[in-house]
Amino acid sequence: MKRTGIFFHYQEGERLRDFPQALDGILDKDNVFLYDAFYPFKPPSSFDLEPIPAELLYQLHAPEMVERVRRSGAFEGALFSVAGTVAAAIRIWRGEIDNAFVFTGYGDHHAGSNFFGGGCYFNGAAIAIAQLRQRFGAKRFAIVDTDPHHGNGTWEIFEADHDVLYVCFCSGQFVEKNNKVNVQVPWRVSDEEYLRLVREGFPHRAKAFQPEAIFWNWGYDGTRGEYGDIGLSPDIHVRLAREIREVANEVCQGRLIVVLCGGSRRDLAHRLIPRVIRVLAGQERATGEGDGVSR
Ligand SMILES: [Zn+2]
Ligand SMILES: [Zn+2]
Repeated sequence: MKRTGIFFHYQEGERLRDFPQALDGILDKDNVFLYDAFYPFKPPSSFDLEPIPAELLYQLHAPEMVERVRRSGAFEGALFSVAGTVAAAIRIWRGEIDNAFVFTGYGDHHAGSNFFGGGCYFNGAAIAIAQLRQRFGAKRFAIVDTDPHHGNGTWEIFEADHDVLYVCFCSGQFVEKNNKVNVQVPWRVSDEEYLRLVREGFPHRAKAFQPEAIFWNWGYDGTRGEYGDIGLSPDIHVRLAREIREVANEVCQGRLIVVLCGGSRRDLAHRLIPRVIRVLAGQERATGEGDGVSR
């Protein structure tokens, strides 16, 4: 059974208002560990997650961009969002946990080396990869991106980096260059068609590439009724989680970091996040999970 770390910081806003309480029934499991941060305020706990030092940002982002984020009002939340991803990666490398779910206030994939937007300020996965390379001599990583929008920031940062496999599923044209792959997804797509695209687009590339860990930029904004609606049902996300977990088990000893990206609805967050975490932790309930699959 895998050990799963959950990285959480308290934040303003509607989407994650039900957390961490909505994780009841998961947090008491022996293989699940909650690392949290006191932002804006909570009593210190034994697993306090520290914000990352601003210096780390400069490894990936231009100083003037960091200054722009500092003036945006989102700086502290953006730091904690990155901190969760970096802390997850380091704890996996130290052998404390096998996989992780990172609650973010702001996503990653629209943040490039000198630009940001679309609810992203800093690129947490990219900063974590820089840290793993620097501190542990790690080299090769895969990032799979199932947010329906194109990950222009992640693409730009790693464009010339052959040691990062990035597979982005979005509406853009098919491109394959330097282990950066864009898989075109139709504007309207069924769950079955989407799953087929992911199965044909990611596992074989990951197996050939042999990453040391997989980052999953998971956005649920492509779900019906969300701001990036491409027609997906809520259940697709649980199926994707199983699929990507299996790839990680096969190619990199289960090392998988799920980074919460797009999605705005509180009800979907409440419904989906605990289920995705249960997949990571091998804690799926046998019945009553909506799609009748138990594994
Ligand atoms: Zn894309
Ligand atoms: Zn998105």
